[in-house]
Amino acid sequence: MSLTALNSTHDPQLRSWLASANAADADFPIQNLPFGVFRRRGSSEPFRGGVAIGDAIVDLGAAAPLFAGLAAEAAAAAARPALNALMALGAPAASALRAALSEALRQGAPQQAALERCLAAQAQAEYAVPAQVGDYTDFYASIHHATAVGRLMRPDQPLLPNYKWIPVGYHGRSSSIVVSGQGIRRPCGQTLPQGMAEPVFGPSRRLDYELELGLFVGQGNALGTPVPMAQAESHLFGVCLLNDWSARDIQGWEYQPLGPFLAKNFATTVSPWIVSFEALAPFRLPFLRPAADPQPLPYLDSAENRAAGAIDIRLEVLLESAAMRSRGEAPWRLSTSSYRHSYWTAAQLLAHHTVNGCNLRPGDLLGSGTQSGPAPEEAGCLLELTQAGRKPVALGGGETRSFLQDGDRVILRGWCEKPGAVRIGFGEAAGEVLPALAAAT
Ligand code: CA
Repeated sequence: MSLTALNSTHDPQLRSWLASANAADADFPIQNLPFGVFRRRGSSEPFRGGVAIGDAIVDLGAAAPLFAGLAAEAAAAAARPALNALMALGAPAASALRAALSEALRQGAPQQAALERCLAAQAQAEYAVPAQVGDYTDFYASIHHATAVGRLMRPDQPLLPNYKWIPVGYHGRSSSIVVSGQGIRRPCGQTLPQGMAEPVFGPSRRLDYELELGLFVGQGNALGTPVPMAQAESHLFGVCLLNDWSARDIQGWEYQPLGPFLAKNFATTVSPWIVSFEALAPFRLPFLRPAADPQPLPYLDSAENRAAGAIDIRLEVLLESAAMRSRGEAPWRLSTSSYRHSYWTAAQLLAHHTVNGCNLRPGDLLGSGTQSGPAPEEAGCLLELTQAGRKPVALGGGETRSFLQDGDRVILRGWCEKPGAVRIGFGEAAGEVLPALAAAT
């Protein structure tokens, strides 16, 4: 199925009987319908699947009896504490559920009274990581990030020769993926201070965030069977916000020769809501490669990818320090960017990951890599924004940052908007830096 085609669920005229979904700046209008898992805050209820609408959540297990056929099957699969079973059903099932929800949530729908009894308030909900993530892979798909970081390390050769040919990535760790809101403990580790011959052990002094998108795998592929480009996006369930917390000083000492390890695997934050590729259809753009660059090899190329492989997902990073919080100030915006600048598309990441026969499973997570844009102020991490700490950024209120301090809360936000379409949002992925454990110092 094509996930770039528009259908009745994208109709900008659609309004929901739930008034909060119709606000102009709402993240979750009826055209969005993102998936997550939730329960009442502070309760010991099992987590269960839901869809965000306005300021509420549709409890999918409770709503399943209102639907028929594939939509009912999908809603029942989503009733579990993680969305893997729904993801395993494949793109047509999620699409059928989206269509049924769109019908039932719109103004005048006969299901209104019954569906109202299946709603929970987001203000009284808590969330979990929406899927049990078996494997997590982080890519490096922004050429602007790769070039800027490469320049800091290798001024003579910022971009390595393979970059424009293969979507570079590494295998990350799934056990430390947490949902938005959970505190992030400052990691301890080995670092090599500048000018010293031997490393020291202690809390990281160069803790950073990375502004990324997370791509959840839907239907898997059998071991030994690559997914071709034409089918790649139908194997992706949807997109969330992702913060790949990074300890730059630990990274600098450990990363050669095998790449990131303890500098990255202590925490990754994801947003609670997964926006489907179907919901993103109105915000597609052509995937453009500069004519002077190598064009993708055939296994990374398709007509659909060229026509609509890019997606204009606007992104921003905000920081709220402990001092700002105590003064009641709003978070300070550090940068903005867009996923449209990515050098590799979501389909290319999935096709490349499986081209050797590697099998992906429902709920696996692919990180997009830090999504820096072409301008310096569009940098997606402090390493870039501060030139490796040499040029601290001003936060307003007199504070500056080279890297993150304890008590800093980092907030990622994302949304799509354009004339003729209804704005949809991703909510946020937030996390506060907690002091290193004293016992480890
Ligand atoms: Ca990363």
